[in-house]
Amino acid sequence: MGSTMVVLLAIQQVREDAMRTLFLSAQGAATLISRVGLARCIRGMVNEIDHDFKRWEQFDKSARLASHSAQGVIEIMPISDGQTYGFKYVNGHPNNHRHELPTVMAFGVLARVETGLPEFVSELTLVTALRTAATSALAAQHMANPAVRSMALIGNGAQSEFQAVAFHELLGIDTFYLYDTDFSATEKLAIHLYELGLKTILCKSVPEAVREVDVITTATAAKTHASVLTKNMLRPGVHINAIGGDCPGKTELHPDILRDARVFVEYEPQTRIEGEIQQMPKDFPVTELWEVLTGFALGRTAPDQITVFDSVGFALEDFSAMRYMHRLALAQGELESLSLIPELPDPKNLYSWLKHGEVA
Ligand code: NAD
Repeated sequence: MGSTMVVLLAIQQVREDAMRTLFLSAQGAATLISRVGLARCIRGMVNEIDHDFKRWEQFDKSARLASHSAQGVIEIMPISDGQTYGFKYVNGHPNNHRHELPTVMAFGVLARVETGLPEFVSELTLVTALRTAATSALAAQHMANPAVRSMALIGNGAQSEFQAVAFHELLGIDTFYLYDTDFSATEKLAIHLYELGLKTILCKSVPEAVREVDVITTATAAKTHASVLTKNMLRPGVHINAIGGDCPGKTELHPDILRDARVFVEYEPQTRIEGEIQQMPKDFPVTELWEVLTGFALGRTAPDQITVFDSVGFALEDFSAMRYMHRLALAQGELESLSLIPELPDPKNLYSWLKHGEVA
């Protein structure tokens, strides 16, 4: 083969590689995370999310687009930093267990802004649990008191193990008080945390679970204005990581808690619609997470203060998590090639792709 031919083939290969959409399946993500280690992946995501929140101004941000039904919600979460565009498809259907489906299911895409080519398609059900836990722990590092040791986990479903691992790894929490209205969910969580060498205390009520802890995570799923926590249950100085109230008409905290707390949000325009603060007046003061991470605003300002991270999940966290998983999967060879976009020798001749179909 002549040297010109070799160069032409090399150029053709580079072009085909540049055109290819890479795919990380649910099985691929699970294999990858198990191989690398859950704690290490969460730490990696914390770094990525922290880095991206600190360049907040570079992102083209918007509240997610939600389509509501009586059963739940389906949402599209877009974001771009001018080089890379990302979006996540995610649902929230609290009664999905009746159909043997998770409450939250997701997938996402990263595309190159320059051309619009989708470069990476990923499962995000598992990755959402990691990125939510990573964001929760990152926020708590700035909002909880130093040297926290115990956490109550209210709602022991799909997210709960990931929350426990993140708070153990990043804040050193080693004792977990568990409560769920479904005792089998609590048993499942207790077994998993026992296997990880973490101490658990199974509780019969929310007040019993939260009475003595330093941090409370609420991760319940019910499409209603629930008062899972009321003010009289709380001890001074507790940090509340409220992740379950994340769409209109779905909250977990009694408004009295918010009234007297220092409240942090991810992206204010979205949280006003979806978060715990949907229950509060429009001018209720909140601080965005990026302000705290960059030092622009303070986190906790007094040891006795009650702090609330009113988390609903923001597109930037998925963008960061997808970029982290993309890099990891490339390095570990865990990606599949996806035939998503027709590969056309003449881009104006889309019709020719039908011949491809005939051949197939
Ligand atoms: P899941 O359905 O697997 O678990 C929810 C658990 O909450 C269930 O075991 C249920 O029995 C329990 N529960 C419901 N009401 C309760 C109550 N009053 N007291 C105690 N337990 C109660 O759901 P999941 O995937 O673990 O998600 C939990 C919540 O977190 C959902 O509402 C979901 O929408 C939300 N979420 C938020 C984010 C975020 O970024 N903020 C990310 C993922 C999930």
